[in-house]
Amino acid sequence: MERIGEVYHIEGSVGESSPLFTVDLPNDEIVLIDLGKMTILSSIGIKNWISWMSMRPENCRLKFYNCPIVILDQASTVLGFLPRATSIESFKAPYLCDNCGAERLLDIKRGAEYEYTTTTAPMKIELPKSILCHKCRNSMEIDFIPERYLIFLKEPRI
Ligand SMILES: [Zn+2]
Repeated sequence: MERIGEVYHIEGSVGESSPLFTVDLPNDEIVLIDLGKMTILSSIGIKNWISWMSMRPENCRLKFYNCPIVILDQASTVLGFLPRATSIESFKAPYLCDNCGAERLLDIKRGAEYEYTTTTAPMKIELPKSILCHKCRNSMEIDFIPERYLIFLKEPRI
């Protein structure tokens, strides 16, 4: 059984530097990274992220929580952004009310609303298409395209 190590909370923008890139990644351990308060990911941040990933110890597993949509976008389009032995365990899905303009981020969890491809089942995506607006009680529609941003689920993950 692998040891679950520390939980790191990353806040603000990830660019040329970020506390994320100084996290001391141990071998044979699961590291939990909470991106709930991350804001911007710049293009240099993406480049640094990929080199940070490539220097990861071989048996270090990374689990990401509360990911903003930008992380899903990169995971689905950029090779090496979230390589083998990493996984997105939860993310924040944006919803928008057409009636009053209210916005909301809904917590979406692996195993509930989505799952990676497994040896026995294809990837699963079951996000609510709409939710009740907390301000005007009309319906809020999902404000991104799950089928496009969740392509990364095609690669099986532990
Ligand atoms: Zn509304």
